[in-house]
Amino acid sequence: MTRHCFAARALLPAGWARNVRIAIDAAGGFADVAADTAGPRPGDEVLPGPVLPGMASLHSHAFQRAMAGMAETRGPGSDDFWSWRELMYRFVARLTPEAAFAIARHLYVEMLRNGYTAVAEFHYVHRRPDGTAYAAPAELLLRHLAAAREAGIAITLLPVLYRWSDFGARPLQPRQARFGNDPAAILAMVEAARRAAAGDADVRVGVAPHSLRAVDAASLRELVAGLEAIDASAPIHIHVAEQTKEVDDSVAASGSRPVEWLLSNQPVDRRWCLVHATHMTADETAALARSGAVAGLCPSTEANLGDGIFPLPDYRAAGGRWGIGGDSHVSRDPAEELRLLEYGQRLALRRRNLVAGGAVGSPGSDAVGTTLWTEAAAGGAQALGRPMGALAAGLRADLVELDPGAADLHAREDDALANALVFSGTPGLVRNVMVGGRWVVRERRHRLDDEGGEDAYRQALRMLLA
Ligand SMILES: [Zn+2]
Repeated sequence: MTRHCFAARALLPAGWARNVRIAIDAAGGFADVAADTAGPRPGDEVLPGPVLPGMASLHSHAFQRAMAGMAETRGPGSDDFWSWRELMYRFVARLTPEAAFAIARHLYVEMLRNGYTAVAEFHYVHRRPDGTAYAAPAELLLRHLAAAREAGIAITLLPVLYRWSDFGARPLQPRQARFGNDPAAILAMVEAARRAAAGDADVRVGVAPHSLRAVDAASLRELVAGLEAIDASAPIHIHVAEQTKEVDDSVAASGSRPVEWLLSNQPVDRRWCLVHATHMTADETAALARSGAVAGLCPSTEANLGDGIFPLPDYRAAGGRWGIGGDSHVSRDPAEELRLLEYGQRLALRRRNLVAGGAVGSPGSDAVGTTLWTEAAAGGAQALGRPMGALAAGLRADLVELDPGAADLHAREDDALANALVFSGTPGLVRNVMVGGRWVVRERRHRLDDEGGEDAYRQALRMLLA
């Protein structure tokens, strides 16, 4: 049966609109979204606060949330991505299926509370600490499916192929033993996850070749071909060009930079998401934009790790699509990610209001907040392979209602609301969140708040940090 919500103000694909009546079908999709209606009809659920489309986080390593704040003490040498990775490896060694579930479930609830309605889980810890497989090889991957379902967030599961420790097919190090698999094993995990999802409209399954340092060319071809045979439009995500050392090593190994190599050796198209394509030449930037793939930007993590700054204005000018991810989850808030994204560009270019105006998939708003939210939601949807990312008929009914009583939204209209959401720095502006037609956050509360969801997370932290 179709039901209706009525929003006084809502951000539609063409921009902010008034008196929007939203029809939601029994399957949890938007049946119709109509602007400038006469008003709510009897039986409509009235949403007095501004309504925006739900946001996708296109890159997540959920367990890393438990490390937030743990790597912020200077070590004996120069601290960089590679020293951070040492801490992450020590953490991985202790991770159990129960802890992975508790951390992910808690994280997903907090993400929902801030306006994320879907997540792409780039999951690479597959084996027991001694390197043997679990009785069900997809055990840890499926714990993330269970966590997402309990939290009520939509999920795209991306089992990661991590085959080598570095360029040149160097064997895995002992502390990478939990990651290792071949393409056939990852494709078997894809099948297992699809069976477990059983046609659930809010679950998608793709693959993630970890990076060009961890996957050789033949394995990459085998993985992509195998996935195509299962689901020809399934998402493919890869880490690429995050670090300048990775770029240098790629050039030494193949003569090509990572993005350059990938675009010339794989059919990169709109199924692909290139995560942290931070270090690109102007030619690579234009070519990636032309490919139709999504650039996966993770501003808080990229800042935390000292990665560098993505050439977003040039990429957008070439029509490039992009979205945001929480990655290591030093932030769980899409507004904060978008603010950091714009601020990084301002600091680098010494100008203001850079992500604004018309681009592919953008309403062409001059308001940075509106543009950031609209483009990131659309790009995130594409990267997750899920029909979402806008308030429009045919998409999943994901929406976020802001608090109509919030002082920092007071006396503001339309673009000024989105700008306040992204740039006021005020926490808790999101009041209600719907995923696939179901309210999962009401008045900032989640069902698990009363069911010990945080207790399980605290227990996992005690075990991991002991
Ligand atoms: Zn990552």
